[in-house]
Amino acid sequence: MDNVQIFDTTLRDGEQSPGFSMTVAEKIRMARQLESLGVDVIESGFPIASAGDLEGVRAVCREIRSCTVAALARTRRDDIDAALEGLKGAARPRLHTFLATSDLHLHYKLHLTREECLEAISSNVRYAREHCAEVEFSAEDASRTDIDFLNKVVDAAVRAGATIINLPDTVGYAVPEEYAAMFRRVIKHLNGAKGVTLSAHCHDDLGLGVANSLAAVQGGARQLELTINGIGERAGNAALEEVVVLLSVRQATLGVTTNVHLNQLFAASRLLTEITGAPVAPNKAIVGANAFAHEAGIHQDGILKNPLTYEIISPEAVGVPKRSMVLGKHSGRNALRVALVEIGYAPTREELDECYRRVSALADESKNVSTRDLLAIAHQVMRKRAGETAVAAE
Ligand SMILES: [Zn+2]
Repeated sequence: MDNVQIFDTTLRDGEQSPGFSMTVAEKIRMARQLESLGVDVIESGFPIASAGDLEGVRAVCREIRSCTVAALARTRRDDIDAALEGLKGAARPRLHTFLATSDLHLHYKLHLTREECLEAISSNVRYAREHCAEVEFSAEDASRTDIDFLNKVVDAAVRAGATIINLPDTVGYAVPEEYAAMFRRVIKHLNGAKGVTLSAHCHDDLGLGVANSLAAVQGGARQLELTINGIGERAGNAALEEVVVLLSVRQATLGVTTNVHLNQLFAASRLLTEITGAPVAPNKAIVGANAFAHEAGIHQDGILKNPLTYEIISPEAVGVPKRSMVLGKHSGRNALRVALVEIGYAPTREELDECYRRVSALADESKNVSTRDLLAIAHQVMRKRAGETAVAAE
């Protein structure tokens, strides 16, 4: 079975979006969790962008020894030099350089001809490759690039020494079928070029980030660039947790594996939330507080009889903490509050009291309150508040 490499760009594409900036210390904490998660590559920053970015890349390189660490650079000497400087201490460095290739970007943004674009790719990828053992080239706006020219771009980058070619849907414009077709065309053109991996990088402007990532894999891409909680420019990147769980749950159909430890996903999501203060929506797939809460009586009944009736993923599989609380008259509200915060809720005093009452009643009955029970109770109690607020606002 083919392996799909997971390239996490939470610390670069994610971190550069509004409201998600991190200090160097926070980047290190997040990078450690990404290493535990088992991603193959951590993109750590864009060193030319600021002194803080350069320091962040350096710090992540010092800290992370088992993943490849990438740093981003435009196809310019000064950018590449800054990225090389950041990567100096890395155990497994990767220089990631990019240039836009669509006529729209070349003409209006860069004022380059196609020939000048090819020349910039050849000379700068070669320069990067002379100083770094592993070079990735990204053709920015690949999904809106003329396919014949895109093939020339890929040829130029491969000839100059890039071994990973990323073909991003930079503005989230592609639809799955055409994105997959682009990969097939390029792979056919490469005609089995040895040691070249194609990569996808999808944005969620039309809500298709995950679908396009999947299409890319079906079209032959074997690296995916993703972020925790789907953070990133504008509407964000394809969410790592959604893509890797999708590839795992539907492995028999899709026929690919990843190296990600799914049981670290919830912790990664919550750590990012804690660092940035930006919570995920309760209905968010995989890591939302309601992702495993069952409200309808028929569903609850089904789950009790056999979880497979309404659950395609068990909460434990993605690392939702397994909790077996025995709450009696001596148990504290504080333990309950901590447990609720852990699963993504911030109860008011009244809500905590209400949750406590329900948990105690359940504990009296069964002596054992699972995370699933707690999620359901929290969902019911907090939903009331959301309902009241909505009424009050009308
Ligand atoms: Zn991006």
